[in-house]
Amino acid sequence: KNPLVQVKNLSKYFSVGKQNLKAVEGLNFDIYEGETVGLVGESGCGKSTAGRTMIRLYEPTDGAVLFQGKNIYDYSEKQMAKVRRDIQLIFQDPYASLNPRMTVEEIIGEPLTIHGVVKGKAKKKRVEELLKLVGLSPEHINRFPHEFSGGQRQRIGIARALALNPKFIVCDEPISALDVSIQAQVVNLLKKLQKELGLTYLFIAHDLSMVKYISDRILVMYLGNMMEFSDSDTLCNDPLHPYTKALLSAIPVPDPTLKRDRIVLKGEVPSPINPPSGCVFRTRCPSAMEICSSSTPKWQEQKPGHFVACHLYW
Ligand code: SF4
Ligand code: MG
Repeated sequence: KNPLVQVKNLSKYFSVGKQNLKAVEGLNFDIYEGETVGLVGESGCGKSTAGRTMIRLYEPTDGAVLFQGKNIYDYSEKQMAKVRRDIQLIFQDPYASLNPRMTVEEIIGEPLTIHGVVKGKAKKKRVEELLKLVGLSPEHINRFPHEFSGGQRQRIGIARALALNPKFIVCDEPISALDVSIQAQVVNLLKKLQKELGLTYLFIAHDLSMVKYISDRILVMYLGNMMEFSDSDTLCNDPLHPYTKALLSAIPVPDPTLKRDRIVLKGEVPSPINPPSGCVFRTRCPSAMEICSSSTPKWQEQKPGHFVACHLYW
């Protein structure tokens, strides 16, 4: 398998007054062609910033992102415009991300126009094709976003992201704003499209409940840092990191005999302007030890393909 995306020591800081907000700190991972990597962590842990930096909507503070083997930050804006056809973003909020004054044809056709791919009748045909692909009727082409349900609007957002035949899509919490009953439908649609079109996804979410169904591998982040990374089954059934265990314990299980004890984390997520010394998770970790405040745990491969940053495993 070839890595389509390689994230190398990626950091993104924002200046806040004279201080740095460390949104993303030293990310290192690959995404293989045709794979879905889930990126999981509480709100504000830097997931969206990571996703946006990975497709160069933000310039990084440090590090590189290789797409098909080439560092995207080395490209000129003009070269980057070409690469942008291959990498797309699906937004969290299907209400806010669609212009209410544009018709479905204009919304989905917009990237085709911007990149000068097709116009006129051919464009309309392509939009109709895209609507069918995401399970909407081509007859909806002249309607406006408010005429659709949340799930349908997310389908419109997906159709727009597919317009240019991308290879890699960052799905930024695409189901978080939807009713639970609709979430599975959108996840299934994304899976189907992945198979049919050979897509590669980064799937961002704040909990593990749906992510484990769509992801081949899952990366858990906390306060901008990587905590644990492995294939989804291992991460969900045999987690190593105390934070992953807490996230898992929060998922409701249908069978009450399987019920895990809920691990409730104390306190709040600290400010990324002033993260804790040593392990950034230590102020909330039920297993924190003395060494955790003085030394940053190394990112290490504990078992083949299973990475963790935690002093418990030294
Ligand atoms: Fe908890 Fe220490 Fe492991 Fe951090 S390094 S997760 S504080 S045990
Ligand atoms: Mg976010």
